[in-house]
Amino acid sequence: MKKLVIFALLLTLCSFVRAEDPITIDCNFPGGNILVDSIKDGVARVRPDLRDTTKEWFYFAFRVQNAQGQKIRFDFQGPNRVGSRGPAVSTDGGKTWFYTSKTPNHSDREFTYQFGPDEKSVLFALAPMYTQKNWEEFKEKIKDHPGLNFTTLCKSRKGRDVELLRIGEGNPDARFALVLTCRHHCCEMTASWAVEGMITEMLSGSEAGNWLLANAEIFVVPFIDKDGVEDGDQGKMRAPHDHNRDYNHRLYPEIKNLEDQIQENFKDKKLVFFDNHCPWIRYGMNEYFYSPMGPNEKMTAACDEYFKIFEKYQKSGQIPYKVENNLPFGKDWNTEQNYFKYENGILTTGSKMWAGKLPNTILAGTIELPYSNASNVEVTPDNARELGRNMLKAFVEFMQRHEKD
Ligand SMILES: [Zn+2]
Repeated sequence: MKKLVIFALLLTLCSFVRAEDPITIDCNFPGGNILVDSIKDGVARVRPDLRDTTKEWFYFAFRVQNAQGQKIRFDFQGPNRVGSRGPAVSTDGGKTWFYTSKTPNHSDREFTYQFGPDEKSVLFALAPMYTQKNWEEFKEKIKDHPGLNFTTLCKSRKGRDVELLRIGEGNPDARFALVLTCRHHCCEMTASWAVEGMITEMLSGSEAGNWLLANAEIFVVPFIDKDGVEDGDQGKMRAPHDHNRDYNHRLYPEIKNLEDQIQENFKDKKLVFFDNHCPWIRYGMNEYFYSPMGPNEKMTAACDEYFKIFEKYQKSGQIPYKVENNLPFGKDWNTEQNYFKYENGILTTGSKMWAGKLPNTILAGTIELPYSNASNVEVTPDNARELGRNMLKAFVEFMQRHEKD
């Protein structure tokens, strides 16, 4: 009896003196990425996990738990780790996000966050995250539209389904094909919102959307490097090369299948191919929307024409754009050396270089949509979608102009 009383007393005492749950920082969720060196005295020393990326890169996405009511400084121990509007923060498990800085001049190596009294679990990321979960939610919104075929391009190297949306397959009136790709570089999440916008516009019942559905087959791969998106890799400059330097080489099943299926399915159609990216983390040209031109003169002329049309539509959009933003081939990072490399005797290259060489391609290009700040405007899922809708309208006008080519 006495023993029992002591035991009960001990139990009661334990529940009073139990230490508070310790602060934890983890990345055990789809798209997560962080290395934690220490958490001490209100300072967390953290770094992006580069994994197989051969140079410094900046993608991070992590969760902090049990820091409610506390102020923590997150020190990345190096420059160019935090975007110009600070980190994107989500207190509702990734449903909604906000940037911590209203102006685009945030420190590029650290940020401080005051956790609210109820903020038991908070996500921090380079920009609002976009993983398979977001695609599933988008799919739910559009799935009842007739003629959509949600299928797969192939299995990834880790056995995941690489999603493919096909629209208008076998339409005898389709003289055109529109191929849209995203996340060749898996960390470039902001571009995914623009792709959602393109699909939204084509299914919206608008004149442009209806024309496209009547006259083109559509082929969308939302996550080329699917494993990288879900595993939270940087993806950029993977060893021995990343997905957007795998054309002709075909080391990755996604690129091999994309090359084969485009040529197999669309060889008799006029092909428009667009691959969607985000630039480097911040500063200079990385803080406005642009398209880098390729070495192919025919495609450069086509892109010039396309982006003039796009400029007209984007005038009413939130993200500023001018044709002069585009980066000529041979300037800055956009060089021969960057895009072409011999590996094992094969000349590897990028998506638009490969697509631009197909005999039936009338337009092949890429875009660079900034992560968080475009010409002093905060980039959000909504205005990135709006930009995507305007890009789609411009694809349609471009096709209409080239009916008789
Ligand atoms: Zn990229």
